Amino acid sequence: MSYKDQDKEKEKEYQRKYRENNKEKISERGKEYRERLENKVRDKLYYQKNKERIKAKRKERDTRPEAKAKKKESDKKYSKKNKEKIKVRRKKYQQRPEIKAKAKKYQQRPEVKAKAREKENKRRKKLGLPSVHKMGSEEYKKQISATQQGIDIEDWNGFSKKQYDQNWTLEFRRAIRKRDNQVCMLCGIHREKLTKALDVHHIDYNKLNTTKENCVSLCCSCHSKTQTNREEWKRFFQSLLSKRYGYRYLR
Ligand SMILES: [Zn+2]
Repeated sequence: MSYKDQDKEKEKEYQRKYRENNKEKISERGKEYRERLENKVRDKLYYQKNKERIKAKRKERDTRPEAKAKKKESDKKYSKKNKEKIKVRRKKYQQRPEIKAKAKKYQQRPEVKAKAREKENKRRKKLGLPSVHKMGSEEYKKQISATQQGIDIEDWNGFSKKQYDQNWTLEFRRAIRKRDNQVCMLCGIHREKLTKALDVHHIDYNKLNTTKENCVSLCCSCHSKTQTNREEWKRFFQSLLSKRYGYRYLR
């Protein structure tokens, strides 16, 4: 008999003796185990039979004020602990197209719009800007028109009747945007990142002077910047285009 087999025999012998000496203990343990198993099965069956009732009861329990307070407390703890994780998760959620569409729809509801306008007016009042309501008013339009014509409101006599010349066509504007590689010539943003096509700006502010030398692609935001300091902008864009495309301008 090898040592290994001898060991095995010894082990067997030990186990047999143990069983003999602890008969009651073992049978007790077996009983306990069977009982636990039976209980488990019974509970499962009970749950399956009374699923709806149990669920309703749990729901009722969760709506009790003390349960609500407890949940609030634990939620608070969780959000404090997982700030960054939550931030990332929320951002991901908000970028889902169906959620984006839902948010847009919500923002277009009249009561939500009114609230946003109120908030914006408060902000404007703080900064001394005209209110949103005022912006749509006749007086405000007159002020803008006078500013655009470079005159005082007292000297203003009628909205600019200046129309665009015959060169101002969709094809022309497309050609300018193509020439500028569909990029805003001021900030460099690409058309793909915008919600609408690039504006085509008249460098000398004369809408009757629609030539490729006098037009440049700008994003909406940059275009609005060109409404003041006109002379400076004119010089800036002329020098930019002469460098890029070799255009010549009369001084
Ligand atoms: Zn821009």
